[in-house]
Amino acid sequence: MYIKWLEIYGFKSFCEKTRIELQKGITAIVGPNGCGKSNITDAIRWALGEQSLKILRAAKQEDLIFAGTEKRKSQGFAEVSICFDNSNGILPIDYQEVVITRRLFRSGESEFFINKTPCRLKDVYELFLDSGLGKDGYSVISQGKVDEIINARPVERYRIFEEACGITKYKYRKEETERKLKTTEENIQRLQDVMFELS
Ligand code: ATP
Repeated sequence: MYIKWLEIYGFKSFCEKTRIELQKGITAIVGPNGCGKSNITDAIRWALGEQSLKILRAAKQEDLIFAGTEKRKSQGFAEVSICFDNSNGILPIDYQEVVITRRLFRSGESEFFINKTPCRLKDVYELFLDSGLGKDGYSVISQGKVDEIINARPVERYRIFEEACGITKYKYRKEETERKLKTTEENIQRLQDVMFELS
C-alpha cells in the first residue's frame, strides 16, 4: 500500500487546489523554510482523522483553513483527499484504490468520505486500524518524534509495538463490546426496576 496522490485545497498555506503525485519508493519534498512542507504531512494526518490541534500545529480549528494573504482572499473551507493504492488488500475494503476525503467549513462543520461516499470519522479510524497509517499509526514521524519514542514511558512504547503487531484493532473492538455490554446491563437493570414497580 502506498499513497498515489493527494489533493489539498484551502488547507493551511494551500490556497489553490494542489495535487501531489507520489511514486512507489522514496519521495523527498524540499523547499525553503516556511514554504509549507510540514503542512503536507499535517494534511495527511488531518485527512486520516487527526483531531488534536496541537499535533496539527494549530491553535484553533479555523487555523486549518487558508487564512488569506495581502494578495489572496481567505478560503471558506479546507479539503484534503488522499488516494491509497490498495492492490495488496491491506485496507479491509473491496477497492484497489481508496480515496479518503475530509472537509472542514469555517462554521466548524466537518465531513468525511471514503471513495466519495459520506462516512463518519469512526469509519475512517476503523479502516486504518493496524495498517500503521491511521491517526495513531507510526508512519508519520514528525520532527522530534524519534526523541519522543526513545524517551517514552514503557507503557507508551508498548502501545507502538501493539499497533505494529496488529492487535490494536482487537483491543479497540474489545473496548467497544465492553461499552455495549455495560449499556445493556444498565438497560436490563432499569427494566427489572420497572417490572418490580408494576408487579
Ligand atoms: P520549515 O522548513 O521551517 O520546517 P515548512 O516548509 O515545513 O518549514 P510549514 O510549517 O509547513 O513550513 O508552513 C508554515 C507556513 O504555513 C507559514 O508561512 C504559515 O504562515 C503558513 N500557514 C499555516 N497556516 C496557515 C493558514 N491557515 N493560512 C495561511 N497560511 C498558513
